[in-house]
Amino acid sequence: MKKLKYTFFTVLLLVGATSFAQEEPAQEEKQSGHVNTNKFRQLYNEFATPNQYRTASGAPGPAYYQNEADYEIKIELNDENQTISGYETITYINNSPDKLEYLWVQLDQNIRTKDSPAREKDGSGMAPVIQPGSVVSSYMTEPFDGGFNITEVSKDGQELPHMINFTMMRVEMPEALEPGDEFEFSIRWNYNIPEHTVDRARSGYESFPDGNKNYVIAQFFPRMCVYNDVEGWQNYQFWGNGEFALPFGDYDVEITVPADHLLDGTGNLVNRKDVYSKEEMNRWEQAQKSYDKPVIIRTQAEAEQIEKGRSTEKKTWKLQAENVRDFAFTTSRKYIMDAQAVKFPKGDVMAISIYPKEGNPLWEEYSTKAVVQTLESYSRMTFDYPYPKAISVHGKNQGMEYPMICWNYGRPNEDGTYSDRTKFGMISVIIHEVGHNFFPMIVNSDERQWGWMDEGINTFVQYVAEQDFGENYPEAIAPNSKYPSRRGEPSKITDYMGGNQDFISPIMSNPENVYQLGNNAYGKPATALNILRETVMGRDLFDYSFKTYAQRWMFKHPTPEDFFRTMEDASAVDLDWYWRGWFYTTESVDIGVSEVKSYYLTNNPTTAGKEMLTRYGVDPSAVDAVYVVEEDGEDYDPAMKGKSIVENAPNLQEFMMDNFTPAERAKLKSPKHFYAVKFNKPGGIPMPIIVEYSYADGTKEKVTYPVQVWRKNDAEVTKVLATDKELVGVMLDPDLETADVDVSNNSWPKAEEESEFDSFKEGTQD
Ligand SMILES: [Zn+2]
Repeated sequence: MKKLKYTFFTVLLLVGATSFAQEEPAQEEKQSGHVNTNKFRQLYNEFATPNQYRTASGAPGPAYYQNEADYEIKIELNDENQTISGYETITYINNSPDKLEYLWVQLDQNIRTKDSPAREKDGSGMAPVIQPGSVVSSYMTEPFDGGFNITEVSKDGQELPHMINFTMMRVEMPEALEPGDEFEFSIRWNYNIPEHTVDRARSGYESFPDGNKNYVIAQFFPRMCVYNDVEGWQNYQFWGNGEFALPFGDYDVEITVPADHLLDGTGNLVNRKDVYSKEEMNRWEQAQKSYDKPVIIRTQAEAEQIEKGRSTEKKTWKLQAENVRDFAFTTSRKYIMDAQAVKFPKGDVMAISIYPKEGNPLWEEYSTKAVVQTLESYSRMTFDYPYPKAISVHGKNQGMEYPMICWNYGRPNEDGTYSDRTKFGMISVIIHEVGHNFFPMIVNSDERQWGWMDEGINTFVQYVAEQDFGENYPEAIAPNSKYPSRRGEPSKITDYMGGNQDFISPIMSNPENVYQLGNNAYGKPATALNILRETVMGRDLFDYSFKTYAQRWMFKHPTPEDFFRTMEDASAVDLDWYWRGWFYTTESVDIGVSEVKSYYLTNNPTTAGKEMLTRYGVDPSAVDAVYVVEEDGEDYDPAMKGKSIVENAPNLQEFMMDNFTPAERAKLKSPKHFYAVKFNKPGGIPMPIIVEYSYADGTKEKVTYPVQVWRKNDAEVTKVLATDKELVGVMLDPDLETADVDVSNNSWPKAEEESEFDSFKEGTQD
């Protein structure tokens, strides 16, 4: 008897139909004889082949190298005619195994020459509505002449042959640069500084009615390109959207400005005593010991006094920085400044804010708080902030990052009042731009090619830091609420991902070639990482792996594969399906519940059951089987519905008696209801199925089916629910954590949740 029973089960196992004999899966036919389109296949075709430079685990390999560029720069900023003139000596160190026949230098300001092709790069015609400033700059004025004027490229006084191609300059050396050798050469240049509030730019000046100007200056000197194992020379032109690829190096910079200016920039200010007043020196020393609140170094009253004058004297500010990929500075006679110390194991960091009176009272209240929060949250997620300072500068309409310094918007109305939108916009942009110190200033990815590697990863950590800010400063946000992050929450990306596919590009695209760069490079990757952390991997596995990536690649140049591989390598979670869906396609998430069927189990042979056994050569009268009966279907007997499993199927009782001890039997469950819940997936991206079951007794149960449930059928799957309780409701993704673009199919029975969907849609207005 026992033996026969096992033979019967073996037969059923072999045919793969232990219960609820189903129709054949619809796509089995589709898969046979075709190329592999399975969404769980590994990314061998998409990923670069691992090698000695970059390993298959996502870490730098034994032959990993990076070249170095050290700079000695002397510049003068002329406040009368808004020009910069400078002279620099670059020492370029070739750590690559390759002989370099020439060097490539970036001339970013050449995007602003009068005849720059960047002015004509788009072909979108006349928009129905245009901003007045755009009309004036596009159709009513001569283009601003902002390109670099290169007056010398030399070595030891000898002119070096060089050729300028738009934003790139090729410099020829007397002989090729051998591996391990270095080459020192000098460049002299000048250019007109753009007014960034008029001629939208990442750096420039803002002009005030009294003639004063605030300068936020970057890309102001010819900078070396990156040469590496991935691109060779990264000399893809600067067209405006793809940001920068820069090697690390040491900087020694002297900047001469009017004597009544306050200046700060990347690196340590090494002649502070020469440029600060005695009083400012004292306050700076206090700030270095102030860990709980900022100390004002130059007050608003002092700044208001100073901005009335126009010194004809000059002062030179000397800054030195080690192991940075760039240099930027700000200068003006209008500036107020405050600073506070932040403790780190290897030494204190100064959190600094610089702003004109037009930024107050907002800036004095929140800027340095936001800098401190950023340093703490990002360091927790990655590595301790390794630079001596982080400065937040208020520049109108700006949001741009450089090592140790960044420009941020957020200006109150003229009467000092401000909206929540301005306040949270300002706090968020400060967190974002200071956060860029970590990505890409330290984890130095190639921004020119991969916008998401710095913007998306940074926006994800920004979300974490914003939520921390909300917890640490509850008085700054609405009562009993979270910090109102603009990006990061899954519900904030559904309109984009569910939108017109003609205007969406995969995240793995060059920033010059995408529509909606904000959603493509910031919002979607940030959300993808947030969902990965909260829903797919869990915080422990994600955080460890994310930190591993940051620490492996700090002060190095990672590629997307290095990130993707490390996240798997450190967690033992296969994520190829996730990278494929979220990063390599424009597909979206949409999972629905399409059908719920109810069953009971019985000993009484059913027509369908007998037919199936006969089909597989088993004599129904010779085996002892459990038959499955669908409610209201063939063989259905209402009297048997809702009874215990052993009542309806006494042979189960017998089986239990034969095979289990009394103690084991006492632990066995005895479900009364069997449901087959069918899920469909109109969205292309496979995701775990998160489902909340509601029962007649008012209880709810949340179950997560692993994403692997989709690996053999990408269109629909059916899960069996065996329970004591009567099922009355099914709700998918009840906490909106998967970015499901259409929640109208998320519930069973269907009608009940429509109104919730409507209110959800209203809530996603961005
Ligand atoms: Zn950014």
